[in-house]
Amino acid sequence: MLLATLKRRVDALIIVCHLGKVMSERKSKAVVLLSGGLDSAVCLYLARRVNEGVVGLSFNYYGRRSVEREAAVKLAAAAGVELIQVEVDFLKEASDVVGAPEQLGGVTQVYIPARNIIFYGIAAHFAERVGANRIYGGHIKSDALRFQDASEAFFEKFNTLLSNHLVSKGVQVTTPLIRFEKYEVVRLGGDLGVPFEFTWSCYGKGPKPCGECEACKERKQAFIRAGLSDPLYG
Ligand SMILES: [Zn+2]
Repeated sequence: MLLATLKRRVDALIIVCHLGKVMSERKSKAVVLLSGGLDSAVCLYLARRVNEGVVGLSFNYYGRRSVEREAAVKLAAAAGVELIQVEVDFLKEASDVVGAPEQLGGVTQVYIPARNIIFYGIAAHFAERVGANRIYGGHIKSDALRFQDASEAFFEKFNTLLSNHLVSKGVQVTTPLIRFEKYEVVRLGGDLGVPFEFTWSCYGKGPKPCGECEACKERKQAFIRAGLSDPLYG
C-alpha cells in the first residue's frame, strides 16, 4: 500500500515536471495535429496557451467519418485557430485494406500502416511553410502500448531526423501528454476549458456515441476517475 502511494506520488511529480518543461518553452508558432478526439483537443488548448500562433492540422484518411471531421472543425473554431485539412484518402486503416498481409492481422483495427511517419512528415512540411518550430501531438501513455509509432522512442528518433535534415533546423515534435493517463488528460482539459462536447471518441458508425465500444468505455472511465461529467454523453 505504502509503495503504491509512493509510486503515485513519483508519477505525479514526473508529470508536473514534464508539463513544467512544456509550459516553460519560449513562445513560438506551432502546428497541432487535431483529429477531433479528446486527447488532441486538450493538446490544442495546451499549445494555444504556450504559443503565440497555432495552426490546426487534420488528416482526412480513407473512411474518416464526418462526425470526426466536424469535431476537428468545431474545436478549431472554438479555439480560434486556423485548421488545415489534408486529403489523404489513399491512407487506410488495417481493417480497410483488402487482402492485408498477415503481419497486419495482429494489430488493432484502427492502425493505419506507417501512420505517424506519414502524418508527422506532412506536419513538418506545413511547419516549415508557416514558420512554426513546434509540432504538437496529443499522444498519451496508453497509445505507445498499442502503436509503436506513438512512443517516446519514436518521437526522439523522429526529432533527430528533423534536426539534422530540414532546412529550418529548429522544428521539433512535442508530445506533452505522452506520460499522462487518460483521466489526467481529462482533468487537464477541464482546467484549460476544453469544450469536451465538441470532441468525438466513438468507434461506432452512428451519429451519436454508442457508449459501448472500447473508446467510449475508456472515455467514460476517464471522466469518472477525473471527477468530471462528460457533456457529450450527458
Ligand atoms: Zn462508442
